[in-house]
Formats: sequence, C-alpha cells, structure tokens
Amino acid sequence: MADKLTAVKGMNDILPAESGQWEWLEAQLRDLMASYAYRNVRTPIVEPTGLFVRGLGEVTDIVEKEMYSFEDRLNGEALTLRPEATAGVVRAVVEHNLLYDGPRRLYYMGPMFRHERPQRGRYRQFHQVGAEALGFAGPDVDAELIFMAADLWSRLGLKHVALEINSLGQPAERLAHREALIAYLSANESVLDAEAKRRLHTNPLRILDTKNPEMQALVNDAPKLMDYLGESSLAHFDGLRALLDAADVSYRINPRLVRGMDYYNLSVFEFVTEELGSQGTICAGGRYDGLIQQIGGKPAPAVGWALGVERILELLKSQDLLPAAAAPDVFVVVPTAQAAQTAAVVCRALRAVGAKVQMHAGTADGQGSMKSQFKRADGSGATWAVILGEDELAAGGVAVKHLRGEPGGQATVALTQLGAWWQALQ
Ligand code: ATP
Ligand code: MG
Repeated sequence: MADKLTAVKGMNDILPAESGQWEWLEAQLRDLMASYAYRNVRTPIVEPTGLFVRGLGEVTDIVEKEMYSFEDRLNGEALTLRPEATAGVVRAVVEHNLLYDGPRRLYYMGPMFRHERPQRGRYRQFHQVGAEALGFAGPDVDAELIFMAADLWSRLGLKHVALEINSLGQPAERLAHREALIAYLSANESVLDAEAKRRLHTNPLRILDTKNPEMQALVNDAPKLMDYLGESSLAHFDGLRALLDAADVSYRINPRLVRGMDYYNLSVFEFVTEELGSQGTICAGGRYDGLIQQIGGKPAPAVGWALGVERILELLKSQDLLPAAAAPDVFVVVPTAQAAQTAAVVCRALRAVGAKVQMHAGTADGQGSMKSQFKRADGSGATWAVILGEDELAAGGVAVKHLRGEPGGQATVALTQLGAWWQALQ
C-alpha cells in the first residue's frame, strides 16, 4: 500500500462534526457585520511578499520568522501566503481607489498562514474574521469597533471576556519613548534574555511584551509610553474612554499592551480570556493611520480588529455554548429499489416546500433492511420518517412516522398531499 498522506502539521481539516459550528459562527458574524453596516471584501490568499514586509515591518515576528514565502516558479516573483489580512485589504482599497467617495467599513473572513509552533489555539493555518474602518479619524469609530466585538460576545453568550486598551501615540512620541526605553533597558542589560538583547535596538517596544518571568519586574518599571503622549494623542485616548464609559463597556488600561505589527498607532485593544491557557487573546486590533500611505495610497486614517475563529470556537465549547449539530427534518425510507423513482419525486416535493430531506440511497448490496434503514433514520437526527412501503404506494400514498416523540403509530399521506402535509406541520 502507498504511504498514507496526511495534512501539513498545524493545518487542520474541518470535518462535518465541526463544520456546522463554523457555519453557525460565520452566520452570526455576517449578521453582526450587517447590523453595523460593514461590507464584505475578499482578497487573494497569496500576495506579493513586499506587501507584508512594507506593511507589517521588517522586524516583526511575522515577517522575521512566520511567513510562508516562496518564489513563483515561472517568473521568480516573491510571494507569500497571507499571515494576516489588513495589509491585503489596504492594498485592495488603494488599488481600487475605494476611498475616492468617502470612508469605508469593510470586513473579511478566511484562512491565514503563520509558521508558528502548533499548540492549542495556535495553528499554522488558522482563520480570522476582521473588521476595518478606513478613512475615519476620530475615536468614535474606534469605539464602534469595540462595541461590535462586545456585541458579538453577548450575542454568542460568551462570558469572562475582558477588554484591555492602550494608546501607542504617534510615531514621534513613540520615538522619544523608545530612546528612553533603550536607555533604561541598556542600563539593565544583565537582566535581558537573548531575544530581548537582539531586539534592544530594532524593536524595543516588543520587549515589553515578553513572556519571560525573569524579566517581568524589569518591564513593569520600564518608562511608560503613556507618559510620552502629547495633547492630541491623549485627547484621542480620553475620547475613546469617554465613549466606552458612556456605553457601560468596561475595560482595563494595560500600559504594556503593544501589538505585533509595526503599523499601529493611537488606540490598541485586545479582548482576552483566562479560559484558553496562554493563547488567551481572542480578538485584537487598533488604529493604523500610517498604513494606507505606506502601501502607496493617499494618507488616510484607519482602524480595525481581527478575531481568531478557532479560539472563539474553543471558548464557546468550553462554556457549552455551541449549537447542536444540524439534522434533516425528514428521512425517506426506501424499502425496495423499485421505489427509487417515486422516492426522488417525494424528496423533491418536500424540499420544494422547505423541508430538509435525507433520502436513503442504496448500495451495491441493495437497499438494506427496513431495520437498518430505520437505524440510519434515527442516527440522522431527522424528526420524521417518510416510508415508501409497497402497500401504501400501491394505494397512492406513503407512511409518515414521528421519530422523536412517544412511540406511536404511523399515518398515511397521499402522494399528492405531501407538500400540504409538511406545510401544515410548520
Ligand atoms: P499571539 O500573541 O497570540 O501570537 P498575535 O498578536 O500574533 O497573537 P494577531 O496578529 O493580532 O495575533 O491576530 C489576531 C487574532 O488572531 C489573535 O488574537 C488570535 O485570536 C488569532 N491568531 C493569531 N495567530 C494565531 C494562530 N497561529 N493560530 C490561531 N489563532 C491565531
Ligand atoms: Mg503571533
């Protein structure tokens, strides 16, 4: 036998046992987006590598070590499987001049690819849903995005999700803070681990995000970016806080909250839970006023978030909030091969009036016994069995049997009345 082929490590098949939950969550998200007037955008999964290098920043985790990059075999073009979608959305917005007649509210959903160490809540192919508001400068739309995510948790019934916010200020403010931070960290160089030493002069802000317990005291006392913010950055932050307060959305200011990508400024936020181990961030975002220009567009402000679908599903599961698997309404029992033509007509007639119908189909060994067909009917989760018994068919009808109630008899319904029978049940 040939060697078994398996999926790439960290990339998962989503099989029928779970795909219904995915579809349900996606439908909830589409409703949510529609209720906030965000419109769907679908960009390619493969983008020029340069888009991410330029958009995310050369010294980010993603660009340094997580991208699936390859050369186009025909023309040598450097390509990358998208590790996130904001850069691609912005590219599309610029390419198609979408901000020409005003700002835009957009959302996307789909797979992303990062070469990370696979573990619970962290995969190499994973799925994000993201919302981006492009062309809006004020904190009102930052708050709108936060409300949207908070609404999602309540629509889903999720509990124990906390909001953390921070401000990253503007580039000049970050620069002043960065110098102070480098000076402070350099003065404590003996406490820095190898990764921090490497980052000291490239991306010192990210050192504050370290998970190394031996560096926690050091980063706790580090100069805080908040103390370097100017008047207008502070006003933006206060504006956001006032909007959240007025709407009774609770939050914690986390001065150490920085985002993985270079492109963020002003508001940044994360929704976190303690119920998913160390992969506790379920949704993260912030403002990225510089990105559109960096990707070649006319300068315009923007803000957005992305949520991790796998992590949300995992949290829903742990809080027992996932819907039951979808089942057909009707299972059609086909005792003999001779009944197949009538069965096809019956199924289509029921579907035409809105029923979800699973037809028993034969195998090379025949139709299978009535007993085994009823077992399948039961396993399908259907509420009704419609049975094409010989005697009933001869009289122009079928038997119908309720599968989930009290054990009881069955009734006969004329073939011409099946649609009406189903409609009367609704
Ligand atoms: P982390 O700190 O967990 O690596 P990140 O800062 O890299 O997250 P973002 O790039 O902001 O994450 O992505 C937004 C969301 O997408 C995350 O909050 C998380 O829910 C999800 N996510 C990110 N990377 C992965 C992954 N490898 N597998 C599953 N979900 C992920
Ligand atoms: Mg990451």
